[in-house]
Parts: sequence; structure tokens; C-alpha cells
Amino acid sequence: MIATERPIIEIARSAGWCFGVERIVEIAEKLLNETHDGPVYCLGELIHNPQEVARLRAKGMIFVKSHEELPPVEPGQKRKVLIRAHGVAPAVKRALQQKGYEIYDGTCPLVTIPQKFARELAEQGYRVVIMGHIEHPEIQGILGHLEGLNARVDVITGPEEVEKLELKASDRVGLISQTTHPYEKFAQLIGRVLEHCLEVRAYNTICQATFERQEAIRELAQRCDVVIVIGGRNSSNTCRLAEIAQEHTTCYHIEDASELKGEWFWGKKRIGISAGASTPTWAIVAVQSAIEQLISKSFQASG
Ligand code: SF4
Repeated sequence: MIATERPIIEIARSAGWCFGVERIVEIAEKLLNETHDGPVYCLGELIHNPQEVARLRAKGMIFVKSHEELPPVEPGQKRKVLIRAHGVAPAVKRALQQKGYEIYDGTCPLVTIPQKFARELAEQGYRVVIMGHIEHPEIQGILGHLEGLNARVDVITGPEEVEKLELKASDRVGLISQTTHPYEKFAQLIGRVLEHCLEVRAYNTICQATFERQEAIRELAQRCDVVIVIGGRNSSNTCRLAEIAQEHTTCYHIEDASELKGEWFWGKKRIGISAGASTPTWAIVAVQSAIEQLISKSFQASG
């Protein structure tokens, strides 16, 4: 293929770290810099970005999957544990306190909103319906906030699963969403539930950063021949960005620049780049510069 015109590279107007991620990384850095008297643990991956997790691991942070892996703190010892941005159940915090850990809570303040509303709805007698992925740590944290309440709670991925709820007209339904789920799906879900029940109370718990990134990639994808989305494959908001881009153009979801292939850009006029809310700026810059190099190589080869 002979390249004739150098393509334009455009970065989405809203991409990369959100304030919740900046906040927890700042807490993590501070703990690692301050501590000279023992390890700093983090419960789960603090954010869903493998490079950032690897960078902090290299600086000394120890990641554990569950609080059960942590040994009790011995008398005279000081041990610090950071709670991931997705939050945890209150029972997990209690278990850590009982073991003697100093807790540093990195839960994004926006994640505490669905936690609070889920409990409030359950206390007021609503059937709680959460839109999200049941295995996602944010949803596990929300469910943990319902402990001790005798409420019916269901987690579904979207309006396509409404039938599973077997709703009755007399049901009073309280709806909330995982913070990183798409707004339009939540709006459809509210409509679908209302078709079955007399009373629905819905809280818009989708975070603004997610909404802005989804809007920005939709616009970008409409004017690009190809879009590269950077971020962890385990990052819910990054996967959603790739899905939105795919609705409009060719899209590749990568975790880092090593996955790029020169042929993706052959003959393209405009290349878009976006990144999930947990993708650091340095990873975006690295991908941009790798794409520029691949384009230069194809020009040299064809010239
Ligand atoms: S995506 Fe939203 S909810 Fe999640 S950490 Fe960022 S600001 Fe918080």
C-alpha cells in the first residue's frame, strides 16, 4: 500500500485519568513515600490499569486479592492498607480494623453515592435493582452496604435483562447504576421497569467523568477512520469506550503501545485516540508517539 497523505492524529477531548483515579494514585504515592516502617498493602487492584498497578508494585506496594490474605498486625507493628477506588463492603473495613490495620480509604467519592442510595432504597422498602456487572468490585461493595437489611436485590446488566426480574405491578422498585455504565442504557432500563410497575424511584449514579468520555469518543469516532482505545481489558469504562467507538468506525482496544500494528493505519486520513478513566497520561503519550513512528515508517517504505 502506498501512503499519499500523512494522517491526522486526534486525541478525544476527554480521555484518561478522572479525578477519582488521580485522587487514589496521589494517596498511594504519599503512603509509599512516607512509609519506612513496614509494607503498604492495597486491597485489590487500586484501579483497573495493569501498567499503573505494575508501577506502584515496583515502588513497593503489595496487592492482595482479599482481606483474608492479610496477617493480623503484631503488637508494636504499624501496617497500612489502602482501599481501592471501587470501594469495599463495611464488613471488610471492620475485618481490617480488627486485624489492627490503619485504613486509608481510596474509594472514589462518586462510588459512595450508589452505596448510600442502595441502602436508603432498601431501608424504605424498595426492591433494589442495580444495573452493573455482579462480579465488578464496585457492585460487590454496594451489595456489602445492604448487609443486615431484608431487601430483595437484583443485579442486571441492562434493559435486555428486565424479564429476569419477574416484576409485579405491586412492586416498588428502586434503581441505581454502576458509576461507569452507559447513561442511555440506564434511561432505557427505567422505561422498561415502568412498563411493569406502578412505582419506580431511580437515582442517576453514573459519574460525570464516564459520561463525558463516552460523549467525547462518540463524537471522535464519527469523524475518524480508526480509533485506538487504551486501557485495561478488565476496565469496565474502557471496554465501554471501545464498544461505543465500534458503533461508528473501526476500533482497536489495546493496553499499551506494544500491541499497535502498522497496517491498522495504512491509507487512513484521521486516527482517533481515547483512553479509559484509569489510563495514565504517559500511556496515551506513548501510544501517540508509537503511532507517529509507525506512520513515518510506512511513508519511508513507500517513498
Ligand atoms: S470513573 Fe467516575 S466513579 Fe470511577 S473513579 Fe473515576 S470519577 Fe470515580
